[in-house]
Amino acid sequence: MCYLFAADICARLYFVHENCDLTKQTLSCVSDWCYQSQFTCDHQCNAPEKWDHANSNCAGKYQSPINIVTRKALKDERLTRFQFNNYQEIFRGSVKNNGHSVQVGIPHLRTISGGGLPATYKAVQFHLHWGTNGGPGSEHTIDGEQYPMELHIVHMKEQYTDLTTALSDSEGVAVLGFFYEVTILTEIFVFLLSEFDVTTNQILTSLAGISLSQLIPSEQNLTTYYRYKGSLTTPGCTEAVIWTLFESPIPLSADQLQVFSELKFRDGKPMVDTFRPVQPLNGRRVFRSGSAVILASSALLVAAMATALGLSQPN
Ligand SMILES: [Zn+2]
Repeated sequence: MCYLFAADICARLYFVHENCDLTKQTLSCVSDWCYQSQFTCDHQCNAPEKWDHANSNCAGKYQSPINIVTRKALKDERLTRFQFNNYQEIFRGSVKNNGHSVQVGIPHLRTISGGGLPATYKAVQFHLHWGTNGGPGSEHTIDGEQYPMELHIVHMKEQYTDLTTALSDSEGVAVLGFFYEVTILTEIFVFLLSEFDVTTNQILTSLAGISLSQLIPSEQNLTTYYRYKGSLTTPGCTEAVIWTLFESPIPLSADQLQVFSELKFRDGKPMVDTFRPVQPLNGRRVFRSGSAVILASSALLVAAMATALGLSQPN
């Protein structure tokens, strides 16, 4: 009850904010949106259902994230391997808690091409979306399953120098999305988070040196992916994004995942559940890359079983 009532007040309050003088750019104006986890009766903000009050694009037809129904994804032979250029190059990225997520700036020298993309795109930044204490937290879901965390590496077409300009092109931005699964220990994010002072919140620091290829699975595990056209998953929700979601998840330990819940939103609350709920497809098609890798491994499995059982090898 309280929640619904407060949400209504919040919506009405926003009409006052809509008249904000943009030249003054007060914090409350600019960041007048929040995740559901930040909304309480004492702290009214535009939670995801009200993001269209922050930007009307958020009520658009082609929004992200979505649930991917794998059996409905259409195989597309044009979705070939990606070429990752300079992804191995070490850089000192600036890490910041931008009030909604943890974001790391990337020098614009790393590019991707191939993968059915219409152009070469250069990496701009990466950030994460997560849940509460290792619970469900990804933005995209696969057959209704929400992973504990999702990494977004944001790229823009090579010709642009800033994201704002790139977002005015309906194919100006390409985001690579990676899911995390909780399994064994990996080093990278413990390292990343050790750079934070979680108490001061407005932290801008530099990573001692990482490469993008350290963050993601090896290239041979990046041939199976899903593709659709959508939007940014935070306001302004601009529909200018070519999405790629890789099937192969990245392993992460439960302890490492837990650390993310220690970060804080601007309002001082734990930075948890930093994901937008899935949006309707509205007739969009989701494509999947050719299944060469799956076929190869299932062929291997059949061959191995045939050998074990003393059967003749299938061709
Ligand atoms: Zn994101």
